[in-house]
Amino acid sequence: PLILTEFLDRAVQLYGEKPAIIDEDWTLTYRELNARVNQLSRGLESLGVKKGDKVAYLAPNSTEMLEGFYGVFQLGAVMTPLNTRLKPGDYRFILEHSESKVLLVDHTLLPLVQEVVEDLPSIEKVIVHGDPSKEGYESWLSQFSPDRFERATIEETDIASLLYTSGTTGNPKGVLLSHRSNYLHALSSMHHLRVSDQDTLLHVLPMFHVNGWGSPFYYTANGATQVMLRKTDPQLIVDKVEKHKVSVLHMAPTVLNMVIGAYEEKQPSIDHEVRVVIAGSAPPPAFVRKVEEDLKWKFVQVYGMTEISPLITTSELRSMDVDRPAEERYRLKAKAGYSMIGSQVKVVDELGEEVPSDGTSIGEIVTKSNNVMEGYYKNVEATHEAIRDGWLHTGDMAVVDDGGNIEIVDRKKDVIISGGENISSIEVEAALYEHPSILEAAVVAVPDEKWGEVPHAVVVVKEGETLSEEEVILFCREKLAHFKAPKSVTFIEELPKTASGKIQKVVIRKKFWKDQNRMVN
Ligand code: ATP
Ligand code: MG
Repeated sequence: PLILTEFLDRAVQLYGEKPAIIDEDWTLTYRELNARVNQLSRGLESLGVKKGDKVAYLAPNSTEMLEGFYGVFQLGAVMTPLNTRLKPGDYRFILEHSESKVLLVDHTLLPLVQEVVEDLPSIEKVIVHGDPSKEGYESWLSQFSPDRFERATIEETDIASLLYTSGTTGNPKGVLLSHRSNYLHALSSMHHLRVSDQDTLLHVLPMFHVNGWGSPFYYTANGATQVMLRKTDPQLIVDKVEKHKVSVLHMAPTVLNMVIGAYEEKQPSIDHEVRVVIAGSAPPPAFVRKVEEDLKWKFVQVYGMTEISPLITTSELRSMDVDRPAEERYRLKAKAGYSMIGSQVKVVDELGEEVPSDGTSIGEIVTKSNNVMEGYYKNVEATHEAIRDGWLHTGDMAVVDDGGNIEIVDRKKDVIISGGENISSIEVEAALYEHPSILEAAVVAVPDEKWGEVPHAVVVVKEGETLSEEEVILFCREKLAHFKAPKSVTFIEELPKTASGKIQKVVIRKKFWKDQNRMVN
């Protein structure tokens, strides 16, 4: 059966004495990691954790977090990692909704949940990581034997993880993923990203989040060394990359942009090569060029979502990397790419027919894949809406070029339908971002008597600069088709964002749609 614990077994068998984890000021081999995992499983068992129970984690990327994955799985229990940047109300919602039994929390994050857990009856025990007094986790763990742990009987369809979505478009939804989905996703990712025992990964993306979640499986399975990054600080990233000769990183383009900035003051070392940096979120070709030419890191884009473990497409180019002219390569890598092994991916119209591969016809991405979730936890209705006739409807709109490469255009909910034309909010935002005085911008649909909807821009102006509504509109009309330019503009101090830094257009839109129902949802 396809059970996630196999990945650690492989690493111990083949790479037992290799460094598995490099954290603050210690290194653990795969054999040592395995011993701690056994201690943890015994510890959790002593607290009454059984197969199917949810174990919540609130921790930065760390030894404790990674060993948590396998310690929880050996019991057949369900790993429920929490975003470290939520508000107390969100923690209450998720801890209650998931019925987590035990919470393991890093001491630096404890204040975020202290009050919440005091009156949550489902939480039976809170264990604190990294307590500087050396009480807490380490002394608790040391009571238990590191010897082989008698594992629970696990079926491959059993649930391994309960992950909550970012909540960009509403309340976070709890996504149930089986051992099988996570396992097959890992195989596919290790193939496309060519993970090997020669790799040293820096864990930049938080492991609790959609993109960081899968990597502790595929880098472990291949005996790669995993360097922990507890804080997303660009200078710290540069230091660790150099010090530990990191070969691969996954990160958000916004963070990558900061790393480029940090490197401007300091040339990348020529002693070693970062073989690839993996990112989502559709960055423009100019950005890909900056990464490949200034940093000399290969760039790969991936696309996915929590509901699919998360990745289903990649712009990794294999032989094309050497064969194609640079300009073309950057253009291709700015797209989400083609479907990964094990995932069928289509872009379909309202009737479910595939749109032509002409680079302009827009449809919704749907997928039938090994990695699709079992469903949303305690939300049958949303599950049925998402998975129809065996196809998961992503809610993301895209076009396909003649080479079969998918390019994300917008979220379905964010597309503006004006006089029968679809306007990508992302395209209008890209035009706004070219204005030197604009710091941040979001474009949403607002109701309009004549056109149904029209684009409205919400703009944050850079400090010390001024800008009028008319200037913004005229600027966009120079860059875009007339009907795509915003018809009106509001200026605000700050855009509403989720904990993972995504702009919440649903919150912005609300103000404009007070008494009317927006048909698109
Ligand atoms: P919620 O579902 O709670 O509203 P969310 O959709 O932001 O939040 P995630 O699962 O964390 O939650 O994010 C997945 C989404 O991120 C995708 O549906 C897509 O809109 C966006 N995304 C992921 N990869 C890319 C990419 N390469 N390019 C553009 N957008 C991407
Ligand atoms: Mg989503």
